[in-house]
Amino acid sequence: MNMSKIDQNWRADFPIFAAHPDLAYLDQAATGQYPQTVIDAMNAYMTTANAPVHRGLYKLAYDATNQFEAVRTQVAAFLGAAHAGEIVFTSGTTAAINLVAQSFGPLVVDAGDEIIVSVAEHHSNFLPWRRLAGVRGAHLLIAPVHADGAIDEEWVLAHISRRTRVVALAQETNVSGACLKQARAIADAVHQVGGYFLLDGAQGIAHNNVNVQQLGVDFYAFSGHKIYGPSGIGCLYARAELLLEMPPVTLGGGMISEVGVHNVSWAPAPERFEAGSQNTLGVVGLGAALRYLQPRRQAMTVHCAALTQQTRAALAVIPGLTLYAHPEAAATLSFNLAGVHPHDLATFLDEQGVAVRAGHHCAQPLMTSLGVPAMLRASLGAYTTAVDCERLVTGVQDAAAFFQVAAR
Ligand code: PMP
Repeated sequence: MNMSKIDQNWRADFPIFAAHPDLAYLDQAATGQYPQTVIDAMNAYMTTANAPVHRGLYKLAYDATNQFEAVRTQVAAFLGAAHAGEIVFTSGTTAAINLVAQSFGPLVVDAGDEIIVSVAEHHSNFLPWRRLAGVRGAHLLIAPVHADGAIDEEWVLAHISRRTRVVALAQETNVSGACLKQARAIADAVHQVGGYFLLDGAQGIAHNNVNVQQLGVDFYAFSGHKIYGPSGIGCLYARAELLLEMPPVTLGGGMISEVGVHNVSWAPAPERFEAGSQNTLGVVGLGAALRYLQPRRQAMTVHCAALTQQTRAALAVIPGLTLYAHPEAAATLSFNLAGVHPHDLATFLDEQGVAVRAGHHCAQPLMTSLGVPAMLRASLGAYTTAVDCERLVTGVQDAAAFFQVAAR
């Protein structure tokens, strides 16, 4: 493959590649690698600043609390939220969506109502809604995807009706990498009928400048580990007036105003949703990850998209290879090789130092609709080089020869 040289300036920021110089890590969509600045910030917190947040009456604890709350303010600005009180720290996208489905869902979804998701949703944005629909006697409407892997947004718009209470969609899907194009139109349509719109930003946030107010979303969820931050930390953005109404789901320390034996009053949002000692180290790491990503995101996205396009073209001509990636995917290349189980192909590639994901990608409804049990996914990050992509393509070509894949 003759890949044109694509400038990349970021690999040196990621110390994992000094530890594994021969690793082509193509699994950013599953979990990202850490730049040194994030490691340093977390290290500094552990070595100089660690203390309980919102609990200690001494300077170290006040400082830790200030650092924790400063990241909330930073996230609010990053997402274009009206104020920091609209940001709830969670353990990730999964926890954020479950919180909405379990706390907000029962307030607005009743028997006969409808919830709209798509067949391409990650299980994290599918199962919570399926359960809510089941518990409330509501209907789950499942939007199909186009042949190119994009969610059929016209279908979504056509199915929004007076019965629609919630629409929950991926901003960017984790299998095809297709991005939602009509988020604002969907938000407006669902609001017109008195419903609510949640965007799953787990993949989209790495590649899109997000402004929740301009998007018109009611809820937005994302995870730290997909944007060069730590795992085990994420955020829920929710419009303040909605958070005000939502009851807590997890009960415990740090989320009450007053507790008696027979009575309790909850703390205001967002503390009401942050029971128990929080992942302060994760929050600090998230803050550093946002500082790293924000000024570079656009250039990183251009870099990933250019490499993705070239790699896609090189993969497409390999005999027996079926691509499931959207033509405009910024960083995701899902595919299968005829007659080769994706797990065998992933193992073959691993032996050549190429790390990709193989499996159903927590999107089994999509796999079923495509008629495949699993597929491979190579996903790119800011640190990905043309050499990584060349090694992927060569590895797949070698696998095709090794497994004697016939042309389709
Ligand atoms: N939604 C999408 C689109 C995802 O890609 C992922 C992670 N693979 C999730 C939700 C869940 O994110 P997390 O595991 O960080 O909670």
